[in-house]
Amino acid sequence: MRAYNFSAGPSTLPLSVLEEAQREFPDFAGTGMSVTEISHRNKAFEAIVLEGEALLRELMHIPDDYAVLFVQGGASTQFAAVPLNLMHKGKADYIVTGNFSKKAWQEGKIYGDAACVASSEDKTYTYIPDVSAIPFREDTDYVHICSNNTIFGTRYIEFPDVKAPLVADMSSEILSREVDVSKFAVIYAGAQKNLAPAGVTIVIAKRDLIGNPLPMCPTMLKWKVQDENKSLYNTPPCFSIYMATLVLRHLKKLGGVKEMSAINEYKAGLLYDFIDSSSFYTNSVEKKYRSIMNVPFVTPSPELDAQFVKEAAANGLVSLKGHRLVGGMRASIYNAMPVDGVKALIEFMKKFERENA
Ligand SMILES: *Cc1c(COP(=O)(O)O)cnc(C)c1O
Repeated sequence: MRAYNFSAGPSTLPLSVLEEAQREFPDFAGTGMSVTEISHRNKAFEAIVLEGEALLRELMHIPDDYAVLFVQGGASTQFAAVPLNLMHKGKADYIVTGNFSKKAWQEGKIYGDAACVASSEDKTYTYIPDVSAIPFREDTDYVHICSNNTIFGTRYIEFPDVKAPLVADMSSEILSREVDVSKFAVIYAGAQKNLAPAGVTIVIAKRDLIGNPLPMCPTMLKWKVQDENKSLYNTPPCFSIYMATLVLRHLKKLGGVKEMSAINEYKAGLLYDFIDSSSFYTNSVEKKYRSIMNVPFVTPSPELDAQFVKEAAANGLVSLKGHRLVGGMRASIYNAMPVDGVKALIEFMKKFERENA
């Protein structure tokens, strides 16, 4: 029996996609070979890359003057790629709203004057700083944010309106809600949260900003080189790209990002409403900034939290343990988590409360 998998990443994928991949695994597109065995220059594989790019462009309404890249190294490698491609004046602003944005900022400092201009660390990252009141500096190369904070369960409602190019790590929410791509200079996302197995990272970058990477930038991290080579500069993470393309097809069939976003709001609403109605479970994020992808919560004690995680797993609700920095539980309810999975979790939470309150 398939479990309801609440892992923050790598995370659950649509069952129909897994089954489709399984069906065509031994013989991909009539090649007589698995997609993991063919050359990345094979026409059948090139078609997958092109289709994946076209679907991403369509589903996210990405303007034509943006490059769409499939690269490796995870979102963490982009923490370095961002300054290496953009930091011409040697100066960038970062908003720190969690562990990953802090790491991005620290990586930025290796390459230049990267400043943390706002942070929510004072309240253990349970809110997003007011973006209209941030002292952004003049003449920066970019402003970096993390739009959804996977570990702490917050997300931006409004994005900063800045003169400098806006760069966003959207790893844990890409394709979960509609965003106006034209407001961003660069969006990047590791795929293993909401799109595909680990291995591929999506980079969406405005072409007029990527033509001039810093001289020290490794070739593999030059977005321009990846763009000129249509993400096939070297051997790409073929299987992940293939799976991403299947997931994108699936998302299009479902009705696209608008439809997905409505489903996600509904799922998260069910869970938050239940948590708020209970005196046993608590989510400490400021309501306005609650993530619809990652929902951390606790019971009255760490002992009960541990028991909850264990009993939930025995009931087919797995990977609910919170991140080690936060403790408690975290339900990651990405695009591929069915409504029934969230309902099953709530039923289990009710039962656990009755037995332990
Ligand atoms: C998971 C995650 C990362 C790290 O991604 P890797 O692909 O493991 O490097 C970075 N940022 C956010 C927001 C994440 O959720």
